[in-house]
Amino acid sequence: TMDGSSMTLLKKSDKLQNVCYDIRGPLLQTANKMEAEGQRILKLNIGNPAPFGLHAPHEILRDVALNLPEAIGYSDSQGIFAARKAVLHYYQSKGLHSAVNVGDVYLGNGVSELIVMTMQALLNDGDEVLIPMPDYPLWTAATNLAGGTAVHYRCNEDDNWQPDIEDIKSKITSKTKGIVVINPNNPTGALYSDDILKQIIEVAIQHDLIIMADEIYDRVLYDNTVHTPMCTLTDDVLVLSYNGLSKSHRIAGFRAGWMMLSGKKQHASDFIEGLTMLASMRLCSNVPGQYAIQTAMGGYQSMKELTSEKGRLHKQRELAISRLNAIPGISCTMPQGAFYCFPKIDPAVYPVKNDMDFMMDLLLEENVLMVQGTGFNWDAPDHFRLVFLPNMQDLEDAMDRLDRFFAKKRLQY
Ligand code: PLP
Repeated sequence: TMDGSSMTLLKKSDKLQNVCYDIRGPLLQTANKMEAEGQRILKLNIGNPAPFGLHAPHEILRDVALNLPEAIGYSDSQGIFAARKAVLHYYQSKGLHSAVNVGDVYLGNGVSELIVMTMQALLNDGDEVLIPMPDYPLWTAATNLAGGTAVHYRCNEDDNWQPDIEDIKSKITSKTKGIVVINPNNPTGALYSDDILKQIIEVAIQHDLIIMADEIYDRVLYDNTVHTPMCTLTDDVLVLSYNGLSKSHRIAGFRAGWMMLSGKKQHASDFIEGLTMLASMRLCSNVPGQYAIQTAMGGYQSMKELTSEKGRLHKQRELAISRLNAIPGISCTMPQGAFYCFPKIDPAVYPVKNDMDFMMDLLLEENVLMVQGTGFNWDAPDHFRLVFLPNMQDLEDAMDRLDRFFAKKRLQY
C-alpha cells in the first residue's frame, strides 16, 4: 500500500540497546534548533576549548602546517615513529621504569577511537568492566557496544570524589576484566591521590585485572598539584594509558590521541594481537594530527599559563564554584583538574524527578545548556555538569541565569 502501513520500519541494531551518549543528545539538538531560530545559547556543555578562544599554541599549528605535505598518505597503522617515540619519552620523563618500546604505542583519532578499539578487542559478551560513577560516558557506551557489561563503582563526593575502594572490591566477579580510572576526572574535576591509585593497583593485582587509565586531563591542573600516571606505579599489572592533545593543546579537531601498553604484557599477547588487528582495520589515525604530537610533548606547555593563579581557567573555576555554592540548595566541590564541575542539587530543596527534563527547562527558560548528571551514569537525578570554559563575561551571564532559574524553581516546589 501507499500509506506506508506495510513498510518495514528501519530499526537501529539491538547492539545499541544499552549504548547512550547524552553529552550530544536531545538537549544539544534542542539547543541547535533554538540557535537556528536566532536565539543565543550559553553553552556550558562540551569540553572543546578552541571555540572559547583558548587557542592552540602557535608552534603546534605551524608544525602541522609545515608537515602537511608529508601527511597526505596513510601512515603505519599504529602511527608515525617520531610521535610514538615522543609518547614513550613523555612517560619515561614522568618516572616510567617498566620496559616499553614504540610497538607499545597506538595513535588514534582521539582517545575516543582507542577506547572503542580496546573494548572491542577485550570483551566477550557478558564480560564486566569496572567504570567510575560518575564517568565520562564513552567508557560505558563502548563497553556495552562491545557486548560487555559496565559495572559502576562509586566515587565519593564527601571525599572530594575519590574512588571508593571498598565499592570497587565488592563489585568484582569472575567476569571482571578490567578497571577504568579517569584521572583527573571528567565530570567531577577530581585529582586522585597516589595512595588511592596504589590501592586500585593492589586490587588489580589480586584479581588479575587490567587497568585502563584515561589521563587526558593530566596537564590541566590547578593549585600546583601534580599528576601521577598510573603506569609509573606498577610493573605487575597490564596498564593501558590513554592521553592526547585535545585538551592540553586545545586541538580537539585534529583527533590526536594515543594509548600505551606497559607493565604485565607477558600474558597479553593474544589481546595485543587483537588490538593491532583492529588498528590495521581502520588503516591509521588522522596523519596531520599525528605530526603535532612530537612538538607538543617536548615543547612549550602553555596550559600552565591558563591554569596558574593569574590564568583564565583558574579565574573561571573560582567564579563558577563560588557562584554555584552561593545558590541555596546547590553545593559543589572544588575541581583540581580539567574544566568541569559536578554540582549537587539538594533534593530537599529541589525534588527533581527527571534531571534531563530539569536541564531542558533551564535551556528553554534561560538559554543555558548543560548536561544532566545521569548522562554521566550517575544513579540519581541530583547533579549536573558545568563546563567552565566560557570567558568571565559569559560565565557571569550564565551564573545570573542559573540564579534566576533556581530561585524560580524554589518557589515552584
Ligand atoms: N576521555 C575523557 C575523560 C574525555 O573527557 C574526553 C573528551 O571529552 C575523551 C576521553 C575523548 O577525547 P578525544 O577523543 O578528543 O581524545
